Amino acid sequence: MRISTLSVGDELICGQITDTNAGTIAEAFLNQGLRLQRHMSVGDSEPDIIEALLELGRNSDVVIVTGGLGPTADDLTARAAARATGRRLVLNDHAKAHVRDMSGRLASLIVCPLNDKQAMIPSKTTLIPNPTGTACGFYLMNNGCFMFFLPGVPTEMVRMLHESVLPYLVERATPKHVIRTEHLNVFGPCEAEVDEMLSGLAQPGQGLYLGICVTFPWMRITLRAEADSDDKAAALLAPAVLFAQERLQEYVFSIGKITVDETVAALFIQQGMTLALAESCTGGMIAQRITSISGSSRYFLEGAVTYSNAAKTRQLGVDATLLVEKAAVSGEAASAMAKGVRQAAGSDLGLAVTGIAGPDGGTIDKPVGTVFISLAAPDGCWTKRFLFSGSRDEIRTITAWTALDWLRRYLVRRAAA
Ligand code: ATP
Repeated sequence: MRISTLSVGDELICGQITDTNAGTIAEAFLNQGLRLQRHMSVGDSEPDIIEALLELGRNSDVVIVTGGLGPTADDLTARAAARATGRRLVLNDHAKAHVRDMSGRLASLIVCPLNDKQAMIPSKTTLIPNPTGTACGFYLMNNGCFMFFLPGVPTEMVRMLHESVLPYLVERATPKHVIRTEHLNVFGPCEAEVDEMLSGLAQPGQGLYLGICVTFPWMRITLRAEADSDDKAAALLAPAVLFAQERLQEYVFSIGKITVDETVAALFIQQGMTLALAESCTGGMIAQRITSISGSSRYFLEGAVTYSNAAKTRQLGVDATLLVEKAAVSGEAASAMAKGVRQAAGSDLGLAVTGIAGPDGGTIDKPVGTVFISLAAPDGCWTKRFLFSGSRDEIRTITAWTALDWLRRYLVRRAAA
């Protein structure tokens, strides 16, 4: 089944809002074993909507259109659908009753003649109920292509998609085609390195596909198995996931939708360990991420943002002479901060970061992006120098990620020891 989507709206093509509908629909279809072939976006222009419908209609068995079904003058989708398919635009009594009924329920809406516009639907179509909004959806068949029209409001669209459109199409999809996917979330290597590590894994001829999506500063590896039964797809996917895990080893911080923050939280809780943080260039970003997870009070004791030398000395007990002789951005300062915060908090682990996020402050010896991370633990203290690149924000973000990943790696190794 060749399926395409069309998003309608000026705000989409002017970059004022992000087209979340396209991704939501693609994912929902994929979960049902149906892969989208094509996606288009057009503005609130009747000729453009007509042209897109005709083009997608020629090359698809199914077209899902979202947006432009509202009551205002720039909502042109129903009229364009009628023109593109040679139908008349008629006042649909059921749609009219629905608009009135919903307008009554949504107390803030006043029924005015404008709303009758939402009941003008192409003839010879079937309405798609909208349980939460005034705009009715509808579908029609044109030259062998099913066209579904849904409102643009994401919450309305999603409900109608799951309650009406997907069940209708899944029932008709032949032959049975099952798609199973798994995501491996990776931090550390670059895209080319991951590609190299996973070479030979994808086998499109057998129905096994590999996708790498870079989302700074981490990466999502998607493994997709396609087969004519659930068992076959599962049998194809499981060894591929194992293979990828073996190749990528500790770079994989989670599988599925679990974030690195959630992974770290689970490891702390499993191992009953506690943490204290001393942050300089990240200014509390690591603590913010740790505390964004519910239950973090079970393992996170405290975090200090020690920006000045005086604060490093007063709060963490870092020797003032060391800061002058070795500098605040140095391995010695980082390890003294990690040990100091661990001792002050009485935690199992103390983690510290100090660095130059830029754009000013770099030197030849220590250019912008130089960061030291140190982890003080019961079995030792490790400090490493990094050189990150990017904007101030990117350097701070990757520093926070690297620090979290250090905690994860330490706890994983500790559990395995
Ligand atoms: P309504 O009855 O609410 O007017 P509609 O079908 O006319 O529904 P639009 O006017 O096109 O929908 O869009 C309504 C709102 O829904 C937009 O302002 C926007 O916030 C959101 N929206 C529309 N299309 C999308 C999309 N593709 N992705 C994300 N949000 C969208």
